[in-house]
Amino acid sequence: MASRFFSFLCWQLGGGLVGWWLAHDKGAMGGIVAAALGWLALDSARGARVLAWLRRADMTGIPSVAGLWAEVVDRARRALRLREQEAAESARRLQEFLSAIQASPNGVVLLDPHGRIEWSNQTAAEQFGFDLQRDMMQQIANLVRDPAFTAYYQSAGDQEIVIAGPRSSPSRPAKLSVQLHPYGEGRKLLLSRDVTAVEQADVMRRDFVANVSHEIRTPLTVLAGFVETLQNLPLDDEERARYLGLMSQQAHRMQTLVNDLLTLSRLEGSPLPGVGEWTPAAVLMAQCQQEAQGLSAVLGKVHALIFEPAPAVEISGSPHELQSALSNLVSNAVRYTPARGSIHVQWGQLADGRGEFSVRDSGPGIAPEHISRLTERFYRVDRSRSRETGGTGLGLAIVKHVVQRHGAELKIDSTPGAGSTFAIEFPAGRLRVLSRDTTAPHAKELPAG
Ligand code: ADP
Repeated sequence: MASRFFSFLCWQLGGGLVGWWLAHDKGAMGGIVAAALGWLALDSARGARVLAWLRRADMTGIPSVAGLWAEVVDRARRALRLREQEAAESARRLQEFLSAIQASPNGVVLLDPHGRIEWSNQTAAEQFGFDLQRDMMQQIANLVRDPAFTAYYQSAGDQEIVIAGPRSSPSRPAKLSVQLHPYGEGRKLLLSRDVTAVEQADVMRRDFVANVSHEIRTPLTVLAGFVETLQNLPLDDEERARYLGLMSQQAHRMQTLVNDLLTLSRLEGSPLPGVGEWTPAAVLMAQCQQEAQGLSAVLGKVHALIFEPAPAVEISGSPHELQSALSNLVSNAVRYTPARGSIHVQWGQLADGRGEFSVRDSGPGIAPEHISRLTERFYRVDRSRSRETGGTGLGLAIVKHVVQRHGAELKIDSTPGAGSTFAIEFPAGRLRVLSRDTTAPHAKELPAG
């Protein structure tokens, strides 16, 4: 400020001196006034340039001026730069924040006080079927047309609801969990989550519990009925023995069911079988043959049971799981093939090195529409025949698990009225030729347990 005053005085002094030199006393006064006006004009011009630059408020075209205006320009330039840096920092933070919300596996939509979409992440756009460009500032109620959502939106409830996704169909249901949260002045945050898998797991769990309860209730009811009869009726020894025999049958049925359930849960919960344990195919085949003969005799059917000699190969994996899978296929063939039918079991080698265990029967066969569902838990083509022969409806589900755990494949080929072939194809990596010191396969027994 002092320099400004000093410069003003210098100008006046200069003007006075020039005036005095030109016209002595009279000229001095005129020179002072003219210098003051000149200084004012120059100063105003500088001020006007600074003002014009400040109005543009950008960092380009900074005026180069001297004196006080230079300091004004410098301070304004610094303030402007600081503001630009802060704005850039805020924009960067906002961008990071939006990127984080974009990366969220859940859908996020910001709604203005009129229910229009202000912003939405890609996940929400996919889940609700929005177009991120076209549908911005559109009413959410016009885009999500599920009546449950409309009622929820209008009621302003804060509990989450589950609605069908826009691309949901009976064959491929899609479920979305949706929740609205109010924020700011009348705005709403809409969160969405794809819960299709959770809902499906829930339905499966409910079905499973219902199936198990149903399977247990039937023998339990029969058992309770017999107990009541034994308690209330005077029976002779023969009748009593018959009733006890029937009761034992029902108890056995429940036991088999529980055992199969435990096997399934063990298969699901245990680590995958390693490749270090080897079992000769002949040992597995011999056990299958023994069980098939026993079951055929128990069921009172006469079958032609043909077991081809097993090749000298060993298979790696869990011996008990493998035995349970192979025995299940053989026992199904025995149970479903009527008397005088034939059952042919063999272990073959495929051209690409894989090994194939197959069971071919001359039983009733299975219609094509059932085949893809046979490995579902409790799925039966013929309920009564399955129960009559002691089936639990879990056998092929167990086979499927074992097969998957050993990297193998289950193949089912069947013609109604002509019989079925169930085969398991084992990968070449799980097979090896039996070495000399283990060529006495029958000497190796499966460990108990
Ligand atoms: P189950 O205990 O009822 O036999 P599985 O899971 O072993 O249960 O088999 C599922 C269904 O597949 C059976 O109920 C039966 O209808 C059908 N099935 C299985 N094996 C055969 C077969 N060899 N011949 C005809 N039907 C079969």
